[in-house]
Amino acid sequence: MTATILIIEDEASIRTVVRAYLEQAGFQVLLATSGPEGIEVAHRDHPDLVILDLNLPGMDGTEVAARLRQESDVFIIMLTARSEESDRIAGLRIGADDYVTKPFSPRELVARVEAILRRRRSATPAGDSSLRFAHVRIDPDRREVTVGDQVIDLTTTEFDVLLALARHHGRVLNREQILDLVWGDDFYGTDRVVDVYVGQVRRKLEAVAGVPLIQTVRGVGYKFIDEAV
Ligand code: CA
Repeated sequence: MTATILIIEDEASIRTVVRAYLEQAGFQVLLATSGPEGIEVAHRDHPDLVILDLNLPGMDGTEVAARLRQESDVFIIMLTARSEESDRIAGLRIGADDYVTKPFSPRELVARVEAILRRRRSATPAGDSSLRFAHVRIDPDRREVTVGDQVIDLTTTEFDVLLALARHHGRVLNREQILDLVWGDDFYGTDRVVDVYVGQVRRKLEAVAGVPLIQTVRGVGYKFIDEAV
């Protein structure tokens, strides 16, 4: 099935070039020139992935991402012209899965799109049964996480981070290992990204469980410490 990509970008030249490369690669492409229009198109046409400009007039890309996130777990790649890491981390914190800094090579952007979509398909190998712990249960097939009988609402990337940690429960994973397990070789960001995602997963799980489930091992990485049952 052909994946559909929505480009939300106010600069016509970038829209045109990125669209041409994506169509060349076999994707169906939707276009929006502003945040509100992008949200409307996403709501109507359910794209598989959104390429979202951070610097949009009217409604900032971070707000657009936050609104998209309220509705779905659609993959989001943020386009940013800003060089400060804090802005990119802000983008990731509200739910972007990856970011590309302008000026970028359209070919590389297409490669990132393909890598992210591949991640979704490969994240759930057939026959993989649930991981059960004292507090947390993870169903990789249904991509569902529960604490007690409460379903925890995680984004796609948050789920993948938790799954990586849980599959190595009781062992410390360093940031590089987590980047490798979740993003593969396709991510060019910094280790800080891991801190952001682990932090979000931890907050969501522990708010319901009421006990520590992910331990920070200073100077090393993270350990999932819920007991296997
Ligand atoms: Ca722009």
